[in-house]
Amino acid sequence: MKKFLSILLSAVMAVSMVACSSSTSETGIKDGTYAGEGSGKGGKIAVELTMKDGQIADIVIGENNETPGFADAMTQLRQTMIDTNQIEIDIVSGATLSSKGFIEAVKDAYSKTGAELTDLVAKEVSNNSSEMADSYDADVVIVGAGGAGLSAAITAAENGAKVIVLEKMNNVGGNTLISGGEMAVPGNWLQKKEGIEDSVETFYNDILKGGDNENDPELVRVIAENALNAAEWLKDDVNVTFEDYMLFFGGHSVKRSLVPLNASGVELIEKLTVKAESLGVEIYTNTQAKKLVVENDKVVAVKAENNGKEIDFNAKNGVILASGGFGSNLEMRIANNPEMDEKILSTNSVGSTGDGITMAEEIGAQTVDMQYIQTYPTCDPETGTLLYVGDVRLEGRAILVNLEGKRFVEELERRDVISLATTEQTGGVSYMYFDEASMQAAGVAESHKTEYENLIERGILVKANSVKEAAEHFGIDAEELQKTIDRYNSYCETGKDLEFNKRGELIAFEEGPCYIMKSAPAIHHTMGGLKINKEAQVLDKDNNVINGLYAAGEVTGDIHGTNRLGSDAIADIVIFGRIAGENAATAK
Ligand code: ADP
Repeated sequence: MKKFLSILLSAVMAVSMVACSSSTSETGIKDGTYAGEGSGKGGKIAVELTMKDGQIADIVIGENNETPGFADAMTQLRQTMIDTNQIEIDIVSGATLSSKGFIEAVKDAYSKTGAELTDLVAKEVSNNSSEMADSYDADVVIVGAGGAGLSAAITAAENGAKVIVLEKMNNVGGNTLISGGEMAVPGNWLQKKEGIEDSVETFYNDILKGGDNENDPELVRVIAENALNAAEWLKDDVNVTFEDYMLFFGGHSVKRSLVPLNASGVELIEKLTVKAESLGVEIYTNTQAKKLVVENDKVVAVKAENNGKEIDFNAKNGVILASGGFGSNLEMRIANNPEMDEKILSTNSVGSTGDGITMAEEIGAQTVDMQYIQTYPTCDPETGTLLYVGDVRLEGRAILVNLEGKRFVEELERRDVISLATTEQTGGVSYMYFDEASMQAAGVAESHKTEYENLIERGILVKANSVKEAAEHFGIDAEELQKTIDRYNSYCETGKDLEFNKRGELIAFEEGPCYIMKSAPAIHHTMGGLKINKEAQVLDKDNNVINGLYAAGEVTGDIHGTNRLGSDAIADIVIFGRIAGENAATAK
């Protein structure tokens, strides 16, 4: 049984090394441990392959910069390689770059044995190695162990329910884990300290405006009214540590976004998991929900699969779908919005394949806004990874320019507006410019050190002593860029950006060391999904409640309209997760 244990936050497997030996097996493959390298989503992937008696005895995943969801794909591939004694295996869907990079690294290591890939004799594997029972009983069964699922699980358990959470990946966390974890909260403690005036009404209007009023106002109000309470719950009950600064996300009227420790979703997922476990919540990883079971007009169970074995998870009170969006499901993306094809990279976790939407649709659920798919404007142009070094922009201290050295959009505009504007620039990329003082103020070289070093190594981020030198690295028109900076600095003197009316405080760039980071938009959030009411109950096509079925988080639609504002997702998933958890626990 693969009952949940500890979170797999590290991509590096602590597997002991087999000592080197020089004997050669009957297959002609020399025993020993061989190092190899490949190039993945986050850059270099190092591995150490151990061959013994012609078999893959072990693969140690070494230094790499793959984010947890993608690291999980490498762990899966590693296991399959060992189980099958094959290296040329299928990639993990949704994790193409990490998979290819990992396979390339193992092949590189294997090539040092001097043998051919065809010398590896394949092993038969049983496809039903699960040690789990045929069925399990709970009051509430939750599909997905991301931010929404874990918030729901805690709240359901706090309301006295026996709770089971199913997670299809090896590790919990989903998109929440690899996000920055920031949460928009009007009236929060830091705003009070800094004297920033804000209100529930302003937040409510920002969400609606940001979504072009395509959102369901009733659901938006739930978020605006409960954000502060949800943040206090995270801080006081779940023990989430928040940093003592906020970020100013695009499209918000004021700075209101709280930042968890290290500006990372890891802090949220770690603390939510510890809390859930302390309340007796059972989390089954490697367990994929496949089908909802309806009896007498009520959802009563989930059919799931663990290691090829089908298992029934019976839910006395109800099932909560918290399985996230569909950003990693290319087919589903294209079916709903043909522009979101394979040419656009994605920031998403491998598990975001829309399973919850598909399962609920099969029993008549209503979906809404499925065509609205958001791209994040400043991602790695080669891999699609969201670049946290770019948070300098969210501190209000960077400008975006094109290859011609000119600004082309307000840097704190909505994500969709910046993304679209970027796509229209030469090469479909932007260049983020900022100075050393801004880098120091944002602190991202320290807080996101691995990413920072990786970007510098790959030449996607450059640090230079002058604007000219930095511009030349990318072939940007240096003269024009200097003029742009001078003009921007003059706006800072008057406090008014005459070109793009950039919101917030305008801080002039100093001379001396500076940075330019190249970036491009990548798929980030699917706004569409299941239609719920404000009690988090899933509705059918006639707007009737589907008994026993709740949903929360990115699996739902109609909350963010055409476009979600940055840091609104965490508020959404925690608030609706808790509502779903409480309602399912107390349902009869
Ligand atoms: P949210 O932000 O809404 O919580 P996340 O992406 O953070 O969404 O989490 C969703 C989780 O659901 C992910 O960990 C994902 O792997 C998991 N998941 C997706 N589909 C299934 C499924 N069919 N069975 C179990 N878990 C699933």
